Amino acid sequence: MGPKGSFDRVLKLLKEHHKWSQETVNLIASENVPSPAVREALVSDFGNRYAEGAPGKRLYAGCKYIDEVEFLAIDLAKEVFGAAHANVQPVSGVVANLATYTAFTQPGDTLMSLSITCGGHISMGKKKFGGTAGSVHGLDVEYFPFDEEAMNIDVERAREKIKEVSPDLVLFGASVFPFPHPVKELSDVASDCGARIAYDAAHVAGLIGGGHFQNPLEEGAEVMNCSTHKTLPGPQHGMILTAEEDLKEIIDRSVFPGVVSNHHLHSVAALAISLAENLEFGEEYGSQIIKNAKSLGEALYNRGVDVLASEKGFTSSHVILADVTDHGLGGEFERKLEDANVIVNRNLLPWDVREGRHYDNPGGIRLGVSEVTRLGMEEEDMERIADFIGRVVIEDENPEIVRKDVEKFARDYSKVNYCFESETEAYEYINIHS
Ligand SMILES: *Cc1c(COP(=O)(O)O)cnc(C)c1O
Repeated sequence: MGPKGSFDRVLKLLKEHHKWSQETVNLIASENVPSPAVREALVSDFGNRYAEGAPGKRLYAGCKYIDEVEFLAIDLAKEVFGAAHANVQPVSGVVANLATYTAFTQPGDTLMSLSITCGGHISMGKKKFGGTAGSVHGLDVEYFPFDEEAMNIDVERAREKIKEVSPDLVLFGASVFPFPHPVKELSDVASDCGARIAYDAAHVAGLIGGGHFQNPLEEGAEVMNCSTHKTLPGPQHGMILTAEEDLKEIIDRSVFPGVVSNHHLHSVAALAISLAENLEFGEEYGSQIIKNAKSLGEALYNRGVDVLASEKGFTSSHVILADVTDHGLGGEFERKLEDANVIVNRNLLPWDVREGRHYDNPGGIRLGVSEVTRLGMEEEDMERIADFIGRVVIEDENPEIVRKDVEKFARDYSKVNYCFESETEAYEYINIHS
């Protein structure tokens, strides 16, 4: 292709991705579409600078505007989450977790977290699975006992297990996170055993900010870690919030010089913008997300898809999990739905490994409504989306035919909602080079 050929090809692929995004329904639970202002911050010159150290006490010159922005991000984060301190420097949710492991544990210590099959994240995982906790920080990982009916941590069995294994750190939170975790119920017993208590809010941070999900800092968690681009529709970044001011020093030190040098200053600016948006619009946005998630669960269930936790209203967050094994497997439906321009991800069900299924082709699909809600969709739109999914999964209709209807439907939702007014469309490609 030659250098110019490759150069042109990359720019063309970016544009094609944007065009395709306008014609798809994206139900990836860990993704979202940021506001035009967040995107503007992300292409700013902040992304080319260094500002090691704390704002006001940098190891680099040239930071006068950067400092003010980082102070604003910190203040906004504290206000949104009712936190005593915020560190906005982790460059991702995994890095935020790693900083917390660094602050609270030594290699060889024991972490209690959720297993991946029950919704845990790779960053909480065991060494033998390549998880960050085990393989990067050398922690032994013990799993929370899980109630597969209730799709949540089993409180009684967890209480017993905490006493038995006496973990050094207990980490709540998950990547399949339909219901609040029993932080209140388990914090006392964990503290009595000498454990530190953390909560990974990567998925639910925006809902917490909007007042629609448990605030772990009020329920016994000492720190809350998160990504900032899932239900909180900001830049791809991370942060750590603390319940008490006296954790500031150890957390800040664990982040820098522990796990970041450059902390992605363009993302810090974008994060400040998304936190301001959360303060203004987060209550309304979160409320619609939860209504939509419940509606999508109900609509799919009524069409014969086995959405889990039906007796609990399917979810109290943005995400639902469906068992598709009556009709095929998760990997197969992930591909077919993508051919129909409906983007979902295959997901392990809690009992998949036991039944011989594997991550490549598990029994479930995970569906999140953060992005479609952000585009302005409401309950009746969830019926339409359930129709598209039902046509592929239940009726085995040709995805190419379903795609025509999905494209038409998706094009009607072209603006980002729950943010300060802008003319720019959600997936508009911004030309800078030409
Ligand atoms: C997404 C996720 C993360 C990791 O986030 P990144 O920002 O991609 O590093 C960590 N923990 C949980 C529970 C997640 O779902």
